[in-house]
Amino acid sequence: MIAKDLSSGVERLGEMIAEASVIVPFTGAGISTECGIPDFRSPGGLWTRNRPINFDEFVISQEARDESWRRRFAMEPTFAAAKPGRGHRALASLYRSGKTPAIITQNIDNLHQASGFKPEDVVELHGNTTYARCIGCGKSFDLQWVRARFEEHGRAPDCSACDEPVKTATISFGQAMPEEEMRRATELSQTCDLFLAIGSSLVVWPAAGFPLMAKRNGAKLVIINREPTEQDDIADLVLRYDIGETLGPFVGN
Ligand code: NAD
Repeated sequence: MIAKDLSSGVERLGEMIAEASVIVPFTGAGISTECGIPDFRSPGGLWTRNRPINFDEFVISQEARDESWRRRFAMEPTFAAAKPGRGHRALASLYRSGKTPAIITQNIDNLHQASGFKPEDVVELHGNTTYARCIGCGKSFDLQWVRARFEEHGRAPDCSACDEPVKTATISFGQAMPEEEMRRATELSQTCDLFLAIGSSLVVWPAAGFPLMAKRNGAKLVIINREPTEQDDIADLVLRYDIGETLGPFVGN
């Protein structure tokens, strides 16, 4: 059912939250646009400016690694300045209320942790861009370490332990999904009775399979996204409104 206006939609969402026992939120880039981080697919989004660099390209090409890190450093002022928005804060309130055991996110911006979720309760399907990792041995590096070496040698550095390339701790197109995160997201989707898909175009797979999985397992599905998605037809409630406006009333509850 598509909410006919914002206030009746928010009221219905409030009832569904009150009736549910286990609520699992699933978020995409749209929840962070009000924090100043552009999404991929909206007009002016990141894809209208940069072609994504695939994992294979990153592994084989120094030039691709250099370009990838240049883009990441260019985004640093944006990521560093971003604070949790109303959507993040509303979900943190649900978490504190005890009904939300954990959150599944496609986002890489660390804003759910910043809003109050314990890091172990944020299931990051696509990793995290606020630190780096060696793609060979998995050793972690902070971004300052990468930047200092990039500036010193004029090229993206390799791991100090094993010489393999160092990449933001994100999952790129063409890279395998993280197994433990996929397992936890599956479990959460199968055991909740209310699933909230927020700010995702639901076109990136396998992530987009989780709302579907929750619905098939008997959960009610709510989609909050200002543009239509392919799963609107199966949702119990669709709110095509701004996320901050929609979730703002739930901050602090
Ligand atoms: P997407 O860009 O494909 O879709 C975002 C959706 O959010 C769009 O349909 C857009 O209409 C909607 N939206 C944007 N702002 C909104 C608002 N204020 N209110 C309501 N709706 C709004 O994003 P996706 O589905 O998450 O897939 C993109 C991939 O890009 C993800 O895998 C993620 O890893 C990555 N990404 C992450 C970030 C981040 O961490 N903040 C930013 C860009 C991309």
